Amino acid sequence: MTHAPAPDPFSLATGLDRIRAAGQFRRRQVLASAQGAAIQIEGRSYVNFSSNDYLGLANDARLVQAFQAAAATYGVGSGASQLISGYSRVHAQLEETLAARLGRTRALLFSSGYLANLAVVTSFAKRREDQVVMDRDNHASLIDGALLTRAGLRRYAHHDLAGLENLLGKGRTLVATDGVFSMDGSIAALPDLAALCARHGALLAVDDAHGFGVLGASGAGSPEHFSLDQNQVPILMATFGKACGAMGAFVAGPEDVIETLIQTGRTCIYSTAMPPALAAAATTALDLSARENWRRDKLQALVQRFAQGAQQLDLPVLPSTTPIQGFMVGSAAAALSGSEYLRAAGLWVTAIRAPTVAQHTERLRIALSAGHSEEQVDRLLEHLAQLARRLTR
Ligand SMILES: *Cc1c(COP(=O)(O)O)cnc(C)c1O
Repeated sequence: MTHAPAPDPFSLATGLDRIRAAGQFRRRQVLASAQGAAIQIEGRSYVNFSSNDYLGLANDARLVQAFQAAAATYGVGSGASQLISGYSRVHAQLEETLAARLGRTRALLFSSGYLANLAVVTSFAKRREDQVVMDRDNHASLIDGALLTRAGLRRYAHHDLAGLENLLGKGRTLVATDGVFSMDGSIAALPDLAALCARHGALLAVDDAHGFGVLGASGAGSPEHFSLDQNQVPILMATFGKACGAMGAFVAGPEDVIETLIQTGRTCIYSTAMPPALAAAATTALDLSARENWRRDKLQALVQRFAQGAQQLDLPVLPSTTPIQGFMVGSAAAALSGSEYLRAAGLWVTAIRAPTVAQHTERLRIALSAGHSEEQVDRLLEHLAQLARRLTR
């Protein structure tokens, strides 16, 4: 069947051509297997270096079992937002577990990290005279939160504490930062950020999507990594979609922070609560993350193995002590062809291009997992070395 050309009053075709011409066209790939270190795509298997499943829990039988058992009791849909009738005992229990684990007074669930960040920014930087100050490389959801408020958005260069300090002391200020930055794997200098915020009376919010479950002796994330309590990091957001292998998110902090989010966080008030079964799976993931320290130990050993290997091979890899490792290629075309090259060798590594990162800083983004083996990491290094030689030829 053929379709007549659709009317295009908004010139969408031209817009799409422009995206293609800039090398920024994106395609989804259909996964035919569970998430994990090995995946199936279009009838081929790949070693997957493009997943946030850092602890290898996304397809863990015990998570599946917890999910199924809770679905058998509570059904699938939560049926309403938390404030109407969608807040079940499983949700409440997960919030209590989180608060206890993180040394915070309370925690509040959100259906996703994106929604949690929108609520944080819009609830704590509300008025025209307020400002929200962010690291330039913060996650898109924090930036989008700033677009939703009347407060002014100011950004400082990546990790530029002096630049940050220049922006403080000018009215009520929310400072928001990623704990671990998603595109280079670097860790925010949280002790310095906390001290600056305390000195200038600013409120600090940390998005620990990539630190939670990965950093800290018990996996409590970047605040634990630096031994910072809730007075120093009053707003702690993290997700269940990464190291916890599930989906959903939370904010943890002092009583008034959490109660303010319940009263004014529109993405909590006006959005359906996450399914109880998902909360049950997240609860089990928290438990496994805390009890099975070997996952973090193994992950850290693989990170070290990769970083040392990359250094010995003189690869253009950004310095990072976290599972996120950036192999710099410098153009969209090189990122795409590099990704293709690795794919041909059975390695799944995503090309990260503008506008996700700045132009000329295009990269292959490697994410390591406790589900990987040393052999798989060595194989990746070998092929990256070949790729580096091809790129400099
Ligand atoms: C993934 C991510 C989010 C969004 O979380 P979702 O639960 O996927 O919506 C927010 N911030 C950072 C830094 C992330 O990496």
